[in-house]
Amino acid sequence: MPAIAHAVQRCIAHQYIHLHHAVCRKDPAAPGALSPDQTNFLDNVHVYPCATQVVEGALMFTLYTMTAYCPITRRWWLVKKRYSEYHAFRQQLDNLWVHCELKMKNDSLTAMLRTIMKLPFPRKVYNGDSVFIVKERIRLLEHFLRKLMALHAECFYYAYQKLKLDEPLSPTFHAFHTLLQTFLGVPEDMLDLRAMQRLLNLAMDKPAAVDASETCSICLSSFDETEGEAVVQLSCSHLYHRDCVVSWLIAKKSCPLCREDVDSGSVL
Ligand SMILES: [Zn+2]
Ligand SMILES: [Zn+2]
Repeated sequence: MPAIAHAVQRCIAHQYIHLHHAVCRKDPAAPGALSPDQTNFLDNVHVYPCATQVVEGALMFTLYTMTAYCPITRRWWLVKKRYSEYHAFRQQLDNLWVHCELKMKNDSLTAMLRTIMKLPFPRKVYNGDSVFIVKERIRLLEHFLRKLMALHAECFYYAYQKLKLDEPLSPTFHAFHTLLQTFLGVPEDMLDLRAMQRLLNLAMDKPAAVDASETCSICLSSFDETEGEAVVQLSCSHLYHRDCVVSWLIAKKSCPLCREDVDSGSVL
C-alpha cells in the first residue's frame, strides 16, 4: 500500500480511538455508546457479497459468500453461509434480545442489539433460490453482516473499557459476544480481548509492507499501477488485490501461488 494510503489508515484508526475515548470520558458508565462519527466509521466496514449455487448430493442450495473486514485489526476473512444459517443466528439473537429487554433495559448491550434487530431481514420463502430472491437476500444480508462486523468492533471497545474500569462483563454479554464470534467465524488469533488489543497495536504500528513494483499474480498488474485498490496479504504471506483474490478464493479456497489452504489475511 502506498505511504499516503497507509498514513490515512493510521489516521482513521487513531481518530476512532480518540473518538471512542472522548465518548468514554464523557460518560464512563456507558461504554459502547457511540458518537455519530464512530457509527459512520463502523458503517465503512468492507463486505464483498456473492452468491453461488452449490449441489451436495440431491440437495441444491445457494451459498452466500461475503468477506468480513475488522477495522480494528485489519484482518480479513471469508464468511460462507446459507440463508438458513443467517436465519437461525437471527433467531438466537432474538432470544437474547428478549432477555435484554426484560432484564437490562438501559444497558448498552441492549442498544447494540436494538440496532441489529431493527435491520430489515430477508423473509423466509418457499422458493428461496429464484434470481429475484437471491438478489434481495444478497442486498439485505450484506447490510446485516456489515452491521455485525461493526458490532464486533463495538464489543471489543465495550469489553476493553470494562476491563480498564475493572468491572466484570455480564453473562449476557459473554453469550452475545461468543454467539457473534462463532457466527462470524472470527479467526482464532482474534478471539480474546488481549489478542485483539495486540493486533490493534500491530495494525497501528505496522510499516507499509507493499512493494509497489510487486505484481498481483491474478490480474498481473503491479501494485503501483493500481494505486488505491486494497491489497490483501493472505495467511501464507502472498499479496494480491483484495477484489482479485476474493473471486479466486470463492472458487478455489487455496493461494494461487503456493496452493496453501487459505481463507483469511490482512488488508495492508
Ligand atoms: Zn489483481
Ligand atoms: Zn501463498
